[in-house]
Parts: sequence; C-alpha cells; structure tokens
Amino acid sequence: SKSLVWFRRDLRAFDHAALHHALRDAVQDGGSVACVFVFDTAILAGLPRDDRRVRFIHASLIELDTELRKLGGGLIVLHGAARSEIPRLAAQLGAGTVYVNEDYEPDAIARDAEVADALQAEGRTLLRFKDQVVFEKSEVLTLAGGIYGVFTPYKNAWLKRLEAQPDSIAPWPIEPYAAALAPVPLTPLPTLAALGFDDGPLPAAAGMRGASDAFESFLPRLADYGTARDFPTLDATSRLSVHLRFGTTSVRHLVRTLRQMMANGAGGAGAPVWLSELVWRDFYAMVLFHHPHIAQASFKPAFDAVAWEAGDAASALFAAWCEGCTGYPLVDAAMAQLNTTGFMHNRLRMVTASFLVKDLGIDWRWGERYFARRLNDYDLASNVGGWQWAASTGCDAQPWFRIFNPTTQSQKFDKNGEFIRRYLPQLSKLDARDVHAPWLVPEDELKACGIVLGEDYPRPVVDHAEARQRTLERFAVVKGG
Ligand code: FAD
Repeated sequence: SKSLVWFRRDLRAFDHAALHHALRDAVQDGGSVACVFVFDTAILAGLPRDDRRVRFIHASLIELDTELRKLGGGLIVLHGAARSEIPRLAAQLGAGTVYVNEDYEPDAIARDAEVADALQAEGRTLLRFKDQVVFEKSEVLTLAGGIYGVFTPYKNAWLKRLEAQPDSIAPWPIEPYAAALAPVPLTPLPTLAALGFDDGPLPAAAGMRGASDAFESFLPRLADYGTARDFPTLDATSRLSVHLRFGTTSVRHLVRTLRQMMANGAGGAGAPVWLSELVWRDFYAMVLFHHPHIAQASFKPAFDAVAWEAGDAASALFAAWCEGCTGYPLVDAAMAQLNTTGFMHNRLRMVTASFLVKDLGIDWRWGERYFARRLNDYDLASNVGGWQWAASTGCDAQPWFRIFNPTTQSQKFDKNGEFIRRYLPQLSKLDARDVHAPWLVPEDELKACGIVLGEDYPRPVVDHAEARQRTLERFAVVKGG
C-alpha cells in the first residue's frame, strides 16, 4: 500500500517520528512512502515579500529533497491550500494513510482536523505523531492529575519523567527503512519568485547542516551558558531557535547529546541551565495546547480588566517602539537587531517587551503580533508565553509590580555599550557611562560626539519614573494578581 508523509515544521530526514513510522509500516506491508511539503497559501498570504523565514524554509527544503534523494526518495513540493492539496495528492497517489508530526497551535489543529475529515470521507487516514517536543499535552501532569501553570514544578516533573522513561528521547531512525521511500521524478522546487517572494540573504545557515553546525559550535560554549547567556554581546546562546522552529534539528537529538555529556561529566554548570530552556519550550507548547485562548487573551482572566493606552498617542508610541526610536538606547538597539536580522537576544526580548507594556502602557498583543511578523524563530506558544510573562498576565509570569528599568538593564547587561553601538552607530562616540542615557548628557558634550538630541537620536518618548507610576495604577485594577 502507499502512504504519504506531510512535512510541516519538521524539515529533516533523520530522527523523524512521522517518517520513521510511515517507512516502518511500509516495510512491513511491502508498501512505499512519498514525501510532500506544501507552501500553504493560507499562511503565505499574510507574509511580506521579503520574509526571511520563507527563504529559510525554501533553502531547507532544497537540502531535505537532496537528502531524501540520497536515501532513494525525494520531496514533492506543492504550492496551494494545504487543506485541499493534501487530500488531493493522497487521492492522486492512492495513499491510504497520511503521516504527520503533531502541531499544537490552534490554527494548525483546526487545519489538521479539516484534512483528517477530508481524508476520512474517502476512506483514508491522518496519523499524528509526537515529534516537536519531548513531552506533549498531558504527559506531564501534577500529582493530582492537573495541568501545570508554574514552570519549576513542571520542570521537576518533566525531568523525573525523562529519568523514568529515557526512551522518550530515543531516535526515530530513517535509514534502516529507507528502501520503502518512493522515488520522485527530478523536478525543480518552485522558485521563491514563483511563490511570490524575494530572494535575499538567509537569516541563518539553513537546513540540517545549518542546525548541526550551530549545535557543534555551541557545545564548547555550553559550560559558560548559565553565566553568559544574559549578555547580548557575548554570543553565548545556541541560536538554535530557528532550527527548532522549523525542525531542521530534533529536540530529542539535542537532549540526548546533552544528557550524554552530563553523564560523562561534560557540559559544566551550563548544561542543566540550557536543558531548562528546552523544557520551557515544552512547557509553553503544553500550556498553549491546554489553553488555546491565550493566543488572544490573558492567561489570568483578572488581567483582562487592565485598560491599555489607545488612540493616536498610543499608535505613535507603538510606531516609535517598532522602529527603534524610543530614545532608550538598549530598547532601540534591540529593535534594530530584530528589524535588520530577524533575531533578538532573549534578555532583550524581555527588556523590549517590558518596555512596550510597562513603559508605554501598550497592550502586549500589539507587541506579540509585531514579533510574530519579524522573528525568524517565531513560535506562537513561546512568543505568547514570553509576552504574557513580560506583561505579567501569563502563567508563572513576572509579578506586575516588578518593572524593568530600561536604563539599569542596559547598564547591567550591556555594561560597556558594545551592543548599543553595534546597532546604533550614531551613538558610537558616547562612552560607557553616557551611552545608556544620552538625554542625561550635557548638550555640548553630546555635540562633541556628533549628536544633536531630537535630530540624530530621539529624546526619550516617556519618562521611566512617571511611566512606572502609571503602570502601577493601571495594574492596580487586578485584585490579588
Ligand atoms: P538558547 O538560549 O540557546 O536556548 C535554547 C533553546 O531553548 C532555544 O532555541 C529555544 O528553543 C528554547 N528556549 C530558550 N528560551 C526559551 C523561552 N524563554 N521560552 C521557550 N523556549 C525557550 N522563542 C522562540 O523560539 N520563538 C519565539 O517566538 C519567542 N518569542 C519570545 C518572546 C518574548 C517576549 C520572550 C521574552 C522570549 C521569546 N522566546 C521565543 C524565547 C527566547 O527568547 C528564544 O527562544 C531565544 O532567545 C532563542 O535564542 P537561542 O536559540 O540562542 O536560545
């Protein structure tokens, strides 16, 4: 019998749950497996022509096709509405079963349900596998069988479960069953232009190769991760997020490698801290799965009572934030990093998110949507989780009365102003003392550095102390929050 593997956010040909199961089943019953990716018009329609992620996916698919061909198969690449293309292709190929790796986002769940129905109407089946995370849905529950809303106990239970069931991260091998891959006639992938997108630089080296290079180069820095990860100039983090997002690496592979290192006494103090970050990723995916409303509303309903700034003044402040023109150098440099590269360091995501919500009084959802458009690694679960954390509306969030001071954050995490100068060259002549708060520097000193405030660099759009006061009042409506 014939079957189909539909690739979505799992663009690799190793340790792949859906592909493994399809091939193994095919080997058992003498069948064959075709592989497909759909450039889904339902998703592409909302993206700008210069979207970096589409380029990343495109480059990763070229590699995936090559790898599948080496194994005897190949990738069919379609451009259309996945909801109809998949049932159509399954019918055309006579595939009785379509294998996919599960996606936990509300839109993806709805799409998959529709595809499953369409397939079923013709006597075919959609089979879903866990692949994107180590533990999904209700695999990690409280002792009372409840869903965790706080990270640390979740993490402890997650680690315990992995200890008890180390097979949870065993690889799903492909090669031993590769003979069941159906060969695909050599047809070039649709070009970016044909898809309606511009060619341009990649946000990161794409594909499995890009992922493994990033991981290899990160491992020697792992030991220092715990202490260095908060400093944006240190290049102390893995930069694997875009690869985890599109599945050019396998989270099981990362956790396996890490555990092996830890068992051998390698990885130092950084290893468990980095593992924690991967657990956060599982945590947020699990939270979104159980509480899909958090994509639009506060995790804690009491916070829906908070009245955000609105109207023209708020729109202007929001635009200043998006463009990196708030007058707070660390915030502006971070937004410049996002706008020019599609990446933003985690500490800076916290700082800019906090600034939007707690200094500008703007609804976290505006910021979440902006990040969604710009981040290469944009992932609904982690992004909403991160935003609601910063806005204090989420599970296990920052308490609302804790408000980052953008200047002290800058002094602490970009002490010498290196990061600021990299992204705001107009401030490059300011020294380490002045670069965090140019509005405090006397005019003639600024002039000597080639800066006229309000012309070369904006004056602060808000006064932090006043904004802080307004935020405390704004959040006071939340009783017991
Ligand atoms: P590393 O520090 O090397 O961490 C390793 C991996 O762990 C990451 O690649 C990521 O998959 C995961 N991870 C790390 N931190 C977190 C976290 N706090 N929550 C969930 N997973 C985490 N991450 C995304 O992948 N997509 C997003 O859209 C996203 N939006 C965010 C929005 C805000 C407001 C905040 C505060 C954080 C957001 N994060 C998001 C989490 C984090 O900032 C990024 O995962 C991280 O900066 C990616 O860099 P890295 O790969 O070098 O991370």
